[in-house]
Amino acid sequence: MSSTPEFQHTLGKAAGFSGTSLHTGEKVTLKLHPAPVDHGIKFKRKDLQDEPTIDAKIDNLKMVERATTIGEGSVRVHTVEHVLAALFAMGVDNAIVEMDANEPPIGDGSAQPYVDLIKRAGVAAQEAPRKFFDVRESMHMEAKTGALLILLPDETFRISCTQAGPNNRFTQFLSMEVTPAIFEREIAPARTFVYYEEIQSLMDKNLIKGGSLENAIVVRGDAVLSKEPLRFADEFVRHKILDIIGDLALIGHRIRGHVVAVKPGHGANAELARAVAREQTRRDAISVPRTLPPGEGGFDTDEVMQILPHRYPFLMVDRIVGFEGETKCIGMKTVSINEPFFQGHFPGHPVMPGVMQVEAMAQVASILLFKLAKTSSRVGYFMSADEVKFRKPVFPGDTIFIHAELTKARGNRLAKAKCHCVVNDAVVSEGELMFTFLDK
Ligand SMILES: [Zn+2]
Repeated sequence: MSSTPEFQHTLGKAAGFSGTSLHTGEKVTLKLHPAPVDHGIKFKRKDLQDEPTIDAKIDNLKMVERATTIGEGSVRVHTVEHVLAALFAMGVDNAIVEMDANEPPIGDGSAQPYVDLIKRAGVAAQEAPRKFFDVRESMHMEAKTGALLILLPDETFRISCTQAGPNNRFTQFLSMEVTPAIFEREIAPARTFVYYEEIQSLMDKNLIKGGSLENAIVVRGDAVLSKEPLRFADEFVRHKILDIIGDLALIGHRIRGHVVAVKPGHGANAELARAVAREQTRRDAISVPRTLPPGEGGFDTDEVMQILPHRYPFLMVDRIVGFEGETKCIGMKTVSINEPFFQGHFPGHPVMPGVMQVEAMAQVASILLFKLAKTSSRVGYFMSADEVKFRKPVFPGDTIFIHAELTKARGNRLAKAKCHCVVNDAVVSEGELMFTFLDK
């Protein structure tokens, strides 16, 4: 549906429908409205005074029993996952979900009514880039329920899911890329299902007052009870994928990664969403240019260049962030796509060469030694590099923090430094360097 996947999208116009809510069994009308760039998805309670809104963000998650509930202050909306899955998968980044109750209509227990609604409203591109979360290293989440979720790097958003019922009945597996067309055809029609043995406790907790065989499939033993026959032989795993999409939509970013899910549930899905959101916050904090302490604390580029003889393209330190005592120092370098080494390392797949990181360590260590010796009349020469390890790739856009610690200084001719490079709070490379000094 969306032909410009790099840009944010909203709805072409407002559209709504009415139905029954699952929790209370009461009638509810839901209306989707277009929203401006960077607005995200917000729920609006039209039935309450001042019509409060709730951001569909993981920070607002309140409850994950059976369905996903979000809230701000005392205001709640329940069972948000199906409408969120439809908006996310159909490519809508910005919208207001207006309701006159605390829950969207359950419809037929699938996301089909919401896909129909979004298609009636239309999807329109906006003039701002989408926010993506690129999975750079694997993350995983394990819950007491037996749920296991793993997030792996991938260029597209994919989900591979294994669903298993009590005693491994109805074990089903499905793997797919999530695109609007695939979601509409393969996932949106899959309905909610419930195990017969769970129904009594859900009824006791007043969680399914509006539940019926018209909006859920009931599984009793090996039998499947529903008003309409199964829509897919593996309808259950498809609905599990639908719920994963809806819960991960709370991250607020599009995901480029592969979700591998075993026996997922709302609790584990939400935990993964939380972990991703935390990682995103950390990345945001690091990518924003920091104001570095002037003078005392560190050295700016000019001062670095007064000490080091290196020049473009071989100066591997932008600034010295600060010193810790006489023996420790942290430098930084922002790695840009314009670095000359990216042209050949590698075309179409830019990764910073590890030896350039070792060079950056050596330069920061040299500055440390200079400060100690208080002279720049000598220049340090590399004698050896031991225990060098490259742990993670460094990409264009990364900011490297280069840590150097002087471990040995023999006279003023020989010195040893322990160094490591950090990107996004993770060590990407390390090594022990030895220098000798010669007069310039
Ligand atoms: Zn569901």
